[in-house]
Amino acid sequence: MTFSDFNFHPDLQEGLLSMGYKTPTPIQQEAIPLVMQKNDLIACAQTGTGKTASYLLPVLHQIAQTDKKYINTLILAPTRELAQQIDQQVEGLAYFTGISSIAVYGGGDGAIYETQKRALRDGVDLVIATPGRLIAHLTSGAINLDHLQHLILDEADRMLDMGFSDDIMRIISYLPKKRQTLLFSATMPPKIRSLANAILNQPLEVNIAISKPAEGITQQAYLTYDHQKLPLIESLLKDKTYQSGIIFSSTKDKVKELDRALRKTGIQAKAFHSDLNQEERETLLNAFRARQLPFLIGTDVLSRGIDVEGIELVINFDVPPDPEDYIHRIGRTARAATTGTAITFINERDQRKFFSIESLIGKEIPKVTLPEGLGESPLYQPELKRPDFKRRGGKNWKNRKPKPKTN
Ligand code: AMP
Repeated sequence: MTFSDFNFHPDLQEGLLSMGYKTPTPIQQEAIPLVMQKNDLIACAQTGTGKTASYLLPVLHQIAQTDKKYINTLILAPTRELAQQIDQQVEGLAYFTGISSIAVYGGGDGAIYETQKRALRDGVDLVIATPGRLIAHLTSGAINLDHLQHLILDEADRMLDMGFSDDIMRIISYLPKKRQTLLFSATMPPKIRSLANAILNQPLEVNIAISKPAEGITQQAYLTYDHQKLPLIESLLKDKTYQSGIIFSSTKDKVKELDRALRKTGIQAKAFHSDLNQEERETLLNAFRARQLPFLIGTDVLSRGIDVEGIELVINFDVPPDPEDYIHRIGRTARAATTGTAITFINERDQRKFFSIESLIGKEIPKVTLPEGLGESPLYQPELKRPDFKRRGGKNWKNRKPKPKTN
């Protein structure tokens, strides 16, 4: 199945091309036709499955064919981060369609609130909002949802966990009764069922089981301090046990830094990132496929884009923020029923994230003792590691750019 099977509006098809999406993911294959037929829908799907595009594409397709006079679609999300991510996907997919969107979330100073208010008054097709801030705009009369066609609740379970239940019901009281409602949730506890009963009309259901790492992957982890990571990677790669592997890090800058550091050690590894042009990327990938280049260093973009058989090793130089990305990263090895090894370096700040990965895949990953000479490793105490440790006291926190005051 390809995206052309859905017969999307040509401008949307162009957006899909530019985003590099080729094949619909399982949730997209199942949900898109149901949403296009105007059904209400309950979808059980995790982040990382392509769930966002599974509701955005059919909705954008529909908006692309209407006169854009009123707010057409409201997406409710639990956090500002998720609202921004959804908005970014809208921007990418709808780039050629002329459809406009705004992410509306809480906090910030009065200026942000006024900017949101003006944008809502000037007219926009799609609003992505956290519940609290949306209520503020609704009660001040800045936003009119009388002509709304679609309501989407994303990560509904998290919204309920965060106590947004009453806010959601209040928002719904401002919406037309005749509308299409889609509810996406990673889990389906009874309270989600009751919410669905209250706000959806004869919904259909899709359920996408979470992905599990392939059986052939041996997973291991090292507990490290940051200064031990480079000597550790050297000791793992220098003895040539592995002929081919990918080293993942979470940001492009870290990838470049690692490239420079590894070059000094004589290990043949090159960075693959978005600053390279298409030709440079192709050349690198071809050298990697042909085994002339043993190791690639890349971000999660590489974890989704690369399909090379015979990769023996994946190293996670840091723990990916999203547990599903871990599955994508390590899935680069042991393809086509072969075997492979996936090794993750966990510093103190990442312990909590790693624990979420172990929870998602339902097993504890063995922690290996550091090679001799590298010193003691930190203890594994994920329950004591605060998720916001980095923001408050992490080593580089002073050098971080201040966040715009929007929260
Ligand atoms: P989501 O589960 O919606 O958070 O999506 C996870 C990631 O997969 C996002 O970075 C999307 O841009 C990407 N994505 C979604 N659908 C596709 C697709 N069909 N092909 C490739 N990447 C996709």
